[in-house]
Amino acid sequence: MADIRELAPYQRYVEGLQRGALVFQHCNGCGKAVFYLRPCCTRCGSTELELRDSAGQGTLYSASVVYDKERNYNLVLVDLDEGFRMMSTVPGCEEPPIGARVIARVERLDAEEPRVVFDLAEGARQ
Ligand SMILES: [Zn+2]
Repeated sequence: MADIRELAPYQRYVEGLQRGALVFQHCNGCGKAVFYLRPCCTRCGSTELELRDSAGQGTLYSASVVYDKERNYNLVLVDLDEGFRMMSTVPGCEEPPIGARVIARVERLDAEEPRVVFDLAEGARQ
């Protein structure tokens, strides 16, 4: 019987953010990373999913600039080194270069849930 907490994957994700961690699941069935958190593996269907903290290091897979009246911002897809991809943003950098190394951090804005954003790694800033 699976731990009841495994049945609320989003809650596990938010709990990770609240302690400053980006969490993902490692499937003990097929060895792949699962993200977003799910009750079972999207590849092999196993429910043997182990919650892990990501080291937060990844590579920019894509970047799009959103032109906004207030301020422009970017939407990026990051390939984390553990083998999963997520959507996020690189604050303070209008056009982050695709292929750049990035590092995750949990950002807490007023009156908003914490979220994961990425900063360009040392040496990646242009
Ligand atoms: Zn699996």
